[in-house]
Formats: sequence, C-alpha cells, structure tokens
Amino acid sequence: MTLSTLQKRINERLDEQYEEMVEIRRHLHMNPELSFQEVETAAFIANYYQSLHIPIRTHVGGHGVLAFIEGAAPGPAIALRADFDALPIHDEKDVPYRSTKAGVMHACGHDGHTATLLVLAKILHEHRDLLKGKIVLIHQHAEEYAPGGAKPMIEDGCLDGVDVIFGTHLWSSEPCGTVLYKNGNFMAAADRFSIQIQGKGGHGAQPHLTKDAVLIGSQIVANLQQVVSRKVNPIDSAVVSVGGFVAENAFNVIADSAVLTGTARSFEENARQIIEHEIEQVIKGVCHMHDASYTYEYVRGYPAVKNHPKPTEYIAEIAKQTEGVLEVKEAATQMGGEDFAYYLQHVPGTFFYTGAMPENSHEVYPHHHPKFDINEKAMPIAAKVLAHAVLSYDES
Ligand code: MN
Repeated sequence: MTLSTLQKRINERLDEQYEEMVEIRRHLHMNPELSFQEVETAAFIANYYQSLHIPIRTHVGGHGVLAFIEGAAPGPAIALRADFDALPIHDEKDVPYRSTKAGVMHACGHDGHTATLLVLAKILHEHRDLLKGKIVLIHQHAEEYAPGGAKPMIEDGCLDGVDVIFGTHLWSSEPCGTVLYKNGNFMAAADRFSIQIQGKGGHGAQPHLTKDAVLIGSQIVANLQQVVSRKVNPIDSAVVSVGGFVAENAFNVIADSAVLTGTARSFEENARQIIEHEIEQVIKGVCHMHDASYTYEYVRGYPAVKNHPKPTEYIAEIAKQTEGVLEVKEAATQMGGEDFAYYLQHVPGTFFYTGAMPENSHEVYPHHHPKFDINEKAMPIAAKVLAHAVLSYDES
C-alpha cells in the first residue's frame, strides 16, 4: 500500500469514528477532574487501551498514562501528547454535555485533546502492520497547575527512546480548519512573585515615629519598572507586573505592613534570572533606605515553549497537505504558559494550535471562560494532521 493510500484509509477511518470521538469528549466533559486529582479520567484512558489490547503504562509520574504502538518495520519513535485535566471553573453552558461537577469544568479543551488522541491511537493500532517505527501516546495529567504533569512524566521515562514529539492545542479563537505553527519562542515562561514589607505602623499625625509600609511599597512598585527597561536586554521580551498591593488601614493610620504580588514573563533563561535577582535588588535597596525588612518569594512556573525549527517546518508542510485543513499560518507569540515546554527541553518537537472555533459566533468564548466550548469538528482535523505527521516522518 502506498503512503497516500494508507493516509486516505486512516482519514476515512477517522471520519467513521467521529461519533465515538464526540462521545468520548462529551463523557469527559461531563466528568471533569482537577489537576493532580484525575483518577477516573486516567482509569478511563487506561480502560480504553486495555479493551483494544494496546500495551500501556499507568501511574507515570503521577496520573499519567502511556500507550505504545509498534509498527511492523523499524523506524523513528514518535511521541504524541494530549493533556487531560480540567479547571476550577463552574460550567455555565446550557448543553446536554455540561459538567456534572459543580465548580469543575473542561474549560480549555483538554477533553477534546484526549478524545482525539484515543481514537487516533485506535486507528493507528488497526494499521500497525503497515506502520514503521514506534508511536508513544503520552496522556498527561495536570497541565493547568504548576509544577504540572509533564516534568514528573519525563522523569518517569515517558520520553525514553523518543526521537521527536508533537502536540496540538484545540484553539477556540481560530476557525475550524486553521492550523497555527510557530518556530522558536511560542509561549512564555510565566512566574509569580510576592513581597511582604514589614515597616512600623503608627498614627497618621506622627509619621516621624513610623516606617510607612505604603510609601515603601509604592517606591518598590515604581522602581520595579526599571527591571525590564534597564536590566533586561531589549532584544528579549519580558514583563514585570505588580497585580496586588494590599495594606488596608483606617484613613488616619500609617501601615505597619504591605503585601505586593505580581507576575513575570520571559522567554530567555538569562532574562528570567536577571528579573528574579533584580526584583530583590530593588526591594533590598528601598527597604534599606527606610530601615524596613521584607520577605521575597519568586516562584517559577513553566519554562517558555520553544519550538524546534525542523519539526515546526515539518508540521506546517504536513498540515498544508492534510484533508480538512483550509489554512496554515504562523501564530503570534503568546504570553501564556504551557508545560509542553519541558518535553521540548529533552527532544526535538513542536507544539501547534488547531482552530476549534464554534460555528455560532455567540458560542465563542476564550479559553478558561465559564461558557467555553470547542467545535468538535476540529478533533478529526487535529487527528488527521497528527496521523499524517506520524506516517510521513523521516528521521533524516
Ligand atoms: Mn490548555
């Protein structure tokens, strides 16, 4: 069988199994589980593979599940990743498949990622005698909550022997049929920090007897504006934003303490280190000036998603030739985070978006919105792109 005939046959099988994909996605949508609590979802995934006699590994780095498809001929080992956790959001959609759990919802499309990968795996498995190499299906728990599931899954061996990895995110703000790729910096490293300032409270009429935590905090906020503008290389993109400043008091009381919280976004490790260090330099300097003390905590979120050039060009090329894909375009760099970043620190690969905008404009909501939904027709498109990527991949 030629490659294009096999391709066609797999696409036909994916179309035939569309109802199953929808059924799986809706089952997961009705039964969402929060990050690190995905016991039933992991069991559902494991059962699906077991019923098809596809070998699996469960409890990988937590609730992660791996499945393996061995082609008949030797070839590359290709990993495909789908995440499966939900969010602490109350589902406000009026649909029959609405979440049955109060305050928990698949508001990012990870249910769709899982349904796509399961059905794709089933169909690739049916054709394993015609495949070369090996396919590792990575079902990852806990993408939404740092430290995330990718890191422990990698530490538990999910990338062992893997030559390349592909992952896609269904994306509700792009029309169905669109594929978005981005070489290099795609999504930012997203960190958070908190600063507690300890001054000395007192009467508003006797400032000379106090160490005003509001004044100290204000000077810190103002001076933090210099971190990106004067310490980070202007070629690197970075953001330092203070989102919270709490020092609540009566109008005639000078604040004893204040708490500042903020977020830092960057793409380069060097910039990230500079930001973490320079924030403290500012705090230290201002507190010294006022003879106040502080505590400072900087918590790293996921690193930046940096797509590798060859797999990215490959996916862009493959997507253009895939049935159901209408447009392939370059994505803008995003300041949001994704723990797919960790896989890309270990093996070559690329993370791309598959447009999944609902057809009715009044049903289009951003990711993490209580009325978020995907266009389910995007699932077979994503599956076809991934199938095509697996079938045509050549190590050279
Ligand atoms: Mn997501």
